[in-house]
Formats: sequence, C-alpha cells, structure tokens
Amino acid sequence: AEKVRIGIVGYGNLGRGAELAVEKNPDMELAGIFTRRDPNTIQTATNANVYCQDNIRSFQDKLDVLILCGGSASDLPEMSPELARLFPIVDSYDNHAKIPDHYKKVNQAAEEAGKLAIISAGWDPGLFSLNRLLGEIVIPDGGTHTFWGKGLSQGHSEAVRRVEGVKKGVQYTVPMEEILEDARNGKGEDLTAAERHKRVCYIVADEKDHARIEEEIKTMPDYFAPYDTTVHFIDEETFDSEHQKMRHGGFVIRSGNSSKAHKQAMEFSLTLESNPEFTASVLVAYARAAYHLHKKGETGAKTPFDIPFSAMTHKTSAEIMKDLL
Ligand code: NAP
Repeated sequence: AEKVRIGIVGYGNLGRGAELAVEKNPDMELAGIFTRRDPNTIQTATNANVYCQDNIRSFQDKLDVLILCGGSASDLPEMSPELARLFPIVDSYDNHAKIPDHYKKVNQAAEEAGKLAIISAGWDPGLFSLNRLLGEIVIPDGGTHTFWGKGLSQGHSEAVRRVEGVKKGVQYTVPMEEILEDARNGKGEDLTAAERHKRVCYIVADEKDHARIEEEIKTMPDYFAPYDTTVHFIDEETFDSEHQKMRHGGFVIRSGNSSKAHKQAMEFSLTLESNPEFTASVLVAYARAAYHLHKKGETGAKTPFDIPFSAMTHKTSAEIMKDLL
C-alpha cells in the first residue's frame, strides 16, 4: 500500500515530536519539514529534509497532509486558514475561548479550496474533549470535571515567552488536590477552571523588567486573567537545571446518577513524560484520518468530535472488530 506522505510545518517542540511520531507509524513517511527560518540552520533528529516554508506551494504533488506545529498564540490563527487552502491540514489550536472563531476561518478556507482541515487535535483540546463529550452522553444526569497537571503547559509557556523582556519562561498548571477528590464524589461541578487550578510561572528576565512582566502576565486575557497566578523570577542556571522537562497530564472525570439509588463515575487520565511527543502522536493519527476522509471527498473544517476512530487507525474494520470490540 502507498504510504501517507506527511509534511511538518514548524520545527519547535511539537514539530520535533511529530518527526518522531511519523517514524512509529509504518503506513506513513515524512516528506519534509517546513520552517520560516533558514533551513540550513536546522539540525533534525532523523536527518529529515528541511525546506523553506515560502516554497510549500510547490509540494502540492509531493505530500498528502500537513501537520501544523506552530504556536496557538500567533502562528496558527494565520497559518491554518492560509495552508488549508493548499493541503489537507491538522492543527492543535488550543486557545479554547477562541476555537469557534478559528473554526470559522479555517472552515471557510478549506471549503473554498475543497480541502479538509482537522483543528484543535491533541490531548486538550483533543482526547480530553472526546472524553468530556462521552461522559455527558452516557451519564446525562451528572457533572464533568477537567483537571490539568501538575504539568508544564506549552500554550501558556509560549504566551509568557512572548511578553517583552522574558528571556526564558515556563508555566505550570497545578490542580487543587481536595477538589480532585470532590469531583470523584460528584461535588464541585459548578467551580470554574480558575477555581480548580493555580498557575505558577518561572521567568528569567532583567530585574528592571520584573514588575512590568508580572503585571502583563497576570492580566493576559483568556490565558491568565481569571486565574490564581504566581510569577517567580529565577536565575538562568536554576531555570536550566530545574525547568527543562515537559511533563504533563491530567484527568477528565464524569460523575452522576443513573437513578436515585445509583451513582456512576467514569475517569480518563494521562501521565505524560513528554507533552509535545504525545500531542504529536495524536496529531499524526488525525493526519491519517484527514488523508483518508479527504480522499473520500470530505471537505471543510472538522474537530475531533467529527472524526471516527476507524479513520484514525491503520488497521482494517475487520481487524479492530475481531481484536478490540
Ligand atoms: P514552540 O517550540 O515555541 O514552536 C513554535 C514555533 O516556533 C515552531 O513551529 C517554529 O517555527 C518556531 N521556533 C521553534 N523553535 C525556534 C527557535 N529556536 N528559534 C526561532 N523559532 C523557533 O512551540 P511548541 O512547544 O511546539 O507548541 C506549539 C503549539 O502546540 C502550542 O502553542 C500549543 O498551543 C499547541 N499544543 C497543543 C496541545 C493540545 O493538546 N491541543 C498540546 C500541546 C501543545 P519555525 O520552524 O517556522 O521557525
């Protein structure tokens, strides 16, 4: 069978993860990595070919699906609609408050070009979204509780790194323990995400900028404004030795009642040693779906809610029915 030819756009953490994830999937091959930087300055993990992103149009016959690995804060809002006019794409857009806007723009571009785009894939949004929906479907009388971390959030770390004067920065999301236990017992559903988690930032910056940077982070709309946010300024050495890992994870808990007599609970959790490598693995599975569904004639933007697992696996329906059903 012919392999699905993947293009990776952007070679940061997620791009590196995607390069490795393609290697784990025997029905796929990497056609190339595309960057806005000088391709000669980039050393890849697997010696993949690196190309200038400006030339991506000339690859329309050479690759099947693009995995967009740019940042949600300012790359994807522009790149996803633009590239959805040229190729089937998958992105991991994770600014939850703005997903409907993003969907609209990408959908229009993809529809006009007759291409398929899968947006907001990954684990949250992504696998967590699927489990929130599944929980609501099977326990209609109940509550849904999502917890992140403790872990490093790439989206939020990227947002703090874009604040002027920030040399290095990370953000950890920390669930409040007692509230996690309440959730399993069906309590606390009315709490907002801000009441369930704290946000803790570690920043390297010149001392003269500290007060302004702290203020800009704490007041950043959507990302930080509603949360209990703490900003620690540390030296570069401490940063390099203690804050380089990208662990993450979390829980989606649905708890409720099927009758007056019986409580029910379902729980999905992730423990990730590398957030970007896991996220990229999910994107690669959605890239396979984008390829197959587009070949069947599907167009426009889709979210993970719209994509059947049977389109995401390389196995046949007969195989998964026999082995996994
Ligand atoms: P990142 O490392 O900051 O990379 C973002 C872009 O910055 C890259 O595509 C790259 O583009 C450029 N870049 C990277 N390293 C660079 C360098 N040394 N110098 C100059 N430019 C550089 O971000 P990331 O960790 O890959 O995360 C990307 C996005 O994934 C996040 O914004 C987040 O929203 C999303 N995400 C989603 C989920 C989910 O579950 N849905 C989970 C995790 C992350 P060029 O190669 O073109 O320069």
